[in-house]
Amino acid sequence: MTGEHVDALVATAPDGISFDDLRVERAADGYAFETPAATHTGLDESSIRAVAAESRHATNWYFWHAVAPQKADRWAFLRWLEPSGGVDDRYDALADGVATDWGELEITVSLGEAGRRRYHLRHVDDADRDADSLDAYDDPLAARDIATTDTRDRYRPLKTAPSLRTGWRFTGLGPTELVEAVEAFYPATIANWHREREGDLDVSHWRETMERQTGMYGVVKTWDRGEGYEHVNWVAEACCDDSQCLKRREWQYDEETELDVDGGDGVFPCREPCSLVVSAARRWTKLEAEEPRTYEFELTPSEKEQVEAIVDAVADGRTGEIREADVYEGANRYRARFLRAKLFDDDGNLAGTPTDPDENEDAAEAEPTDD
Ligand code: SF4
Repeated sequence: MTGEHVDALVATAPDGISFDDLRVERAADGYAFETPAATHTGLDESSIRAVAAESRHATNWYFWHAVAPQKADRWAFLRWLEPSGGVDDRYDALADGVATDWGELEITVSLGEAGRRRYHLRHVDDADRDADSLDAYDDPLAARDIATTDTRDRYRPLKTAPSLRTGWRFTGLGPTELVEAVEAFYPATIANWHREREGDLDVSHWRETMERQTGMYGVVKTWDRGEGYEHVNWVAEACCDDSQCLKRREWQYDEETELDVDGGDGVFPCREPCSLVVSAARRWTKLEAEEPRTYEFELTPSEKEQVEAIVDAVADGRTGEIREADVYEGANRYRARFLRAKLFDDDGNLAGTPTDPDENEDAAEAEPTDD
């Protein structure tokens, strides 16, 4: 009997095998080959070949020792994609395909020849779509291009934002290719997920991350010199909410001080404020350094509510969903244009009130006189 898994098993048998309920041992009378279903003893090389050739446990052992990537995080991730339980139960489940979500990816693992796993990848929103209606890819690196822009062709600065485009599929990937594709969609998520499972996730909290910033980003440090950490709650609420990022935020203000906002439910963790957050925080540091001023505007109650509705719609990314005909929605485009036509002066000032009070005086000074 031949076959890669048979040759490999025979070559390894003298050292003994113990994996997933398969035990192979060398004894004085020959080899013992044991699975939950049967025990064979006194096997010579040709008979152990015959037994291994028919054994799911042998193909399973070969897949996990010679086909799947051996790097610990990748190996653990691929195992995690399969149901727990014995080899027979797992093979039966895999025959129908087993699907798992990873962010916006739906990963389905199925059984190929001789225990080989085949992996299929598509957007979770395409789970029920006919395969023929999706663009097919087989090169895992194509994932980089797919992940670059969203459905409206806008650049995605944050790879873990829930804005992955739909309409594609990867079919029949091997285990290494599957991991490459997942890493192209969501860099470092497998490694951090694994570190967390192993209790090794080295979290860098806000304070220490900001302390490390140098050069143009060093300004963010100044934001932390005031009292409290409420500003960091605002940052986390603005950027790290599940509606904005699929990572589960594990970083806090510092080792002792947890933020008040929820870190989210993502399957993979976030171990430190990302570059997008640091960059946004830099801008906020400058804006929040301004002193508040009192402005006086007259708004009708509906106009005040409309301003609130516009801020909400922009913050939640809903402006594209608001129909032009829906004039009951405060963030409707015609409603917003009406508000602007009514309340903005020619310089774009709300209710004719300049942002800087000195602007009025400057303008008055520049005004030509009758003299
Ligand atoms: S810092 Fe926030 S936005 Fe950035 S990757 Fe982590 S959870 Fe996502």
